[in-house]
Amino acid sequence: MRERDGLVTAAILDGKALSETLRARYRDEAAALTARGVQPGLAVILVGEDPASQVYVRNKVNACLAAGIHSEHCRLAADVDTARVIAEVERLNRDPAIHGILVQLPLPRQIDEAAVLAAVSADKDVDGFHVANVGALALGAPRFVPCTPKGVMELLAHAGVDLNGAEAVVVGRSNIVGKPMAQLLLAANATVTVCHSRTRDLAFHTRRADVLVAAIGRPKMITGDMVKPGAVVVDVGINRLPDGKLCGDVDFESTRTVASWITPVPGGVGPMTIAMLLANTLEAARRSLAR
Ligand code: NDP
Repeated sequence: MRERDGLVTAAILDGKALSETLRARYRDEAAALTARGVQPGLAVILVGEDPASQVYVRNKVNACLAAGIHSEHCRLAADVDTARVIAEVERLNRDPAIHGILVQLPLPRQIDEAAVLAAVSADKDVDGFHVANVGALALGAPRFVPCTPKGVMELLAHAGVDLNGAEAVVVGRSNIVGKPMAQLLLAANATVTVCHSRTRDLAFHTRRADVLVAAIGRPKMITGDMVKPGAVVVDVGINRLPDGKLCGDVDFESTRTVASWITPVPGGVGPMTIAMLLANTLEAARRSLAR
């Protein structure tokens, strides 16, 4: 906590700064792998023209280029069928220059998302969504960990947050954020509660949290009165307001005077997600050397 203008305010968990440090390290690691004859490679499949997805994919591809990671951007028309997407995945599964494959979600309605994710080779599944990687995480022997919760764990470790025995509350139970987040916190010996849209008294749970992770997709839903004094608050949410500005799932202004640490939006979890994608791609390339 910091004191400012007579008010106690939370310290910022600065994902932008940490991700820049990590990305410099990953650039060196990519160069070292390339020198050993394996330039790490990531393929991103984007189906359709969703503007938000296009921005996310562009950011990922640019991050790869800056890190010296080869990247391939595969664009498919919005009206393709499941078989066409799977054919693209299988082509990339066979391509030795590609170590990581990411299918940008959400996919258009007509496509069977589970079938597509199942088609990605578990060895190239840098998003950690394949059932083999989900199972490995649940069994406590993780292989590829989903990038967003992995980035949250890096942020917490960097801030020196002690999770051992801590009350951790995760709001949201999606397969890509909430559930793996809960698994990782549990593996770090936190006592974990997972809340969702059917939770009866959300504030009762959030007020008990030493570490609160919000992954809801509802602007500013967690307000300062729902937060325990001194809590560490991680805001995964990215919401666009009618005025075009981005905001998280946490009301930053009312929460920063209660929490001890808080992530901003933007500049918190988002940049860490991209950094962890690079980390997983490097890991996949390293493992390919061992095969
Ligand atoms: P989903 O929509 O898949 O999941 C949202 C979760 O929030 C669900 O489990 C839902 O419960 C729960 N929820 C919804 N309403 C309430 C409520 N009123 N009270 C309690 N829980 C509620 O979203 P994601 O997990 O994919 O993403 C969450 C947010 O994180 C989004 O804003 C997204 O944009 C952002 N995001 C950010 C990333 C980053 O890099 N920073 C990466 C990925 C996502 P139920 O299961 O019952 O429906």
